[in-house]
Amino acid sequence: MKLPKEQVLDVFRETKALLEGHFQLTSGLHSAQYFQCAKVLQYPKYLHLLCGEIAKHFEYADVELVISPAIGGVVVGTEVGRMLRVRTIFAERIDGKMQLRRGFEIHPGERVLVVEDVVTTGGSVFEIVDLVKKADARLAGVGYVVDRSNGKILFEAKHFSVLQMDVVTYKPEECPLCKEGGTAIKPGSRGNY
Ligand code: ZN
Repeated sequence: MKLPKEQVLDVFRETKALLEGHFQLTSGLHSAQYFQCAKVLQYPKYLHLLCGEIAKHFEYADVELVISPAIGGVVVGTEVGRMLRVRTIFAERIDGKMQLRRGFEIHPGERVLVVEDVVTTGGSVFEIVDLVKKADARLAGVGYVVDRSNGKILFEAKHFSVLQMDVVTYKPEECPLCKEGGTAIKPGSRGNY
């Protein structure tokens, strides 16, 4: 059984991964929520809990390799790979392109699970799926902790997210929180995030 949504949200709030208020996001848009996944993953028990959901979902998918995009996906990928007891690697963005470095390899025919922390546009995941295809390996699935795509992304493999968290954003001039007289905070500007 999947972890109840409210239970996951409580963990996000408790660890301050999810902040509620009035924020200006890096895109310039305003939102009543700000989410930083790394804040919850710093706690081993929650890393274990959330990654356990992904590992459980793909337990019988004959996964032979886990691969994640750096940096955000590495912590989650490593934990899922450890739980599934399979080799685990990561790809990193060099000159704007996701690549395998450090001698990492995807072997032909291998069943590969792609793991990420947060999927918004899915860009990094799609690039890794391409790496899997180029290696003549097989895609076992895509697993991630939080789906922020508002249901817009369709991966061609089985995909699973621990939590779907829709993002409601506003243009500053249309922001209801601004209209109430509030000021949007930039979460990154304090050096805390
Ligand atoms: Zn606003």
